[in-house]
Order: sequence, then structure tokens, then C-alpha cells
Amino acid sequence: MRQWIVAGNWKMHNTVAESIALAKAIKEGAAGLQGGTVVLAPPFTALASVHQVIQGSPVCLAAQNMYPEDKGAFTGEVSPLMLKDVGCSYVIIGHSERRKYFLEQDTDVNRKVKKATACELIAVMCVGETDEERDRGITQDIVGRQVQTGLSGMENLENVVIAYEPVWAIGTGKVATPAQAQEVHGFIRGLLRRLYGGPAAEQTRIIYGGSVTRDNIGDLIAMEDIDGALVGGASLKADQFLGIIEKTSSAK
Ligand code: PEP
Repeated sequence: MRQWIVAGNWKMHNTVAESIALAKAIKEGAAGLQGGTVVLAPPFTALASVHQVIQGSPVCLAAQNMYPEDKGAFTGEVSPLMLKDVGCSYVIIGHSERRKYFLEQDTDVNRKVKKATACELIAVMCVGETDEERDRGITQDIVGRQVQTGLSGMENLENVVIAYEPVWAIGTGKVATPAQAQEVHGFIRGLLRRLYGGPAAEQTRIIYGGSVTRDNIGDLIAMEDIDGALVGGASLKADQFLGIIEKTSSAK
């Protein structure tokens, strides 16, 4: 049975003090929840401080990006070893904002996924189509290519979580319907089955992201192939995020 996972992507929000306060509220609210994982992805500047807050609790720490080298002359970048050093066990890779604003390609995502997992970080690999691609009826072509190229050369999926995040749903308030999301999650799981076999596909967590709130998570999480959520805006408010976690944990 797959365990649920709810991850909060704080993006470029929160000072260190604000991050500490939010992490404390989430840690306290999520204490005692079982059968899944809560992950917080603060900005780089707050990783170490948030780690101090959640250390010893079941809440895990994620970075929002990384550079796929151990160290070197890569000004402004952060390596997976540095992320581990400040307590990260997860890293988000290939978020659509990185693809859009920083021109990350599937091949960059692939390098990062391979490097992250080689360094024993769990890679949350984001995929998803734009509204134009959905309108053209090529959602599965786009998502299939992103999954296949992103995982190219990966021997197993042990340290991989896939986040299906339709670009048109991120930060727009326009959430995918449960049926739309399930259709793509089912497609991704089918693709994983072909690439890695049944047991690996069944064990891999595929989470949905895009305007998730505590009011809409219930219907999404009821879907067979939706194993949790990657949450942006609603993860910045403890009560909203805890509501999403509670509904996920009681449904799965
Ligand atoms: C995200 O940034 O991954 C995301 C899903 O954002 P939001 O929940 O705000 O749509």
C-alpha cells in the first residue's frame, strides 16, 4: 500500500522568522498523524532554521531546487550535499515555474533527478501540461515525454515521487477536476508500469498539485491514483495546510 504525502512549496515567501513560526504551527498540528508524510519546502535561506524546528518530528524538509553537482564553480547554485547538510531529505525538481522562468528542460530535470537520488535525496519530479497543450489534446504526449525523459537512465523509482501539476492550475484557483487529475495520474502509473514493472509502479507515489485547498482536496484524494498533494499558496497558512493534511490522512 502506498503512503500518502502532502508537501508544501513555500516558493519565494517567508523570512526566517516567518518560516520558523509556520513550521512550528504545522509540526504541532500534524503531530500524531500516521500513514503518510508531511514535507515542507521553505526557501533556501530558511532551510536550516526550519530543520531545527522539525528535527525529531515526522515532518520532513525539502528544497525547491538544486544544482546537479557536488560542488564547484557554479555561482549562486546549491548542491545536493549542501541540502543534506542542512537536513533536507526531499528536493522538488522541475517545477513548472523553473521550467518557465529559468528555462529548465526535461534533460536538466533528468540530470537533477539522477543526481538527487544518487545522493539519497527523494526527488519530487514535477510534470504537467499548459492550457494550450490541453486544448490541443496533447496532455498525454507532453506528460509522457516529461516522465520518460525525466526518468531516463533511472534504474528504479525507490527515491522518486511524481507530482502531476497542470500548469494552468498552478496559482490560478482553477483546480483540475478529480476526473481530469485521475485520468493523468492513471496514465502516468500505466507508463511507469511499462517502464519499471507492476510492483514499482504500484509503490510509486503520484501526487497532484494546482490550486489545492482544504475545500477541494477531499474529492481529489478520493481518486485511486492520487496519493497526496503538492501545495503552493495554501501551504503558507497553517490552518489551510493542516486541513489538507487531515483530509488526506483520513481518506487514505
Ligand atoms: C505549486 O506551486 O506547486 C502549486 C501547486 O501552487 P498552488 O497550490 O498555489 O497552485
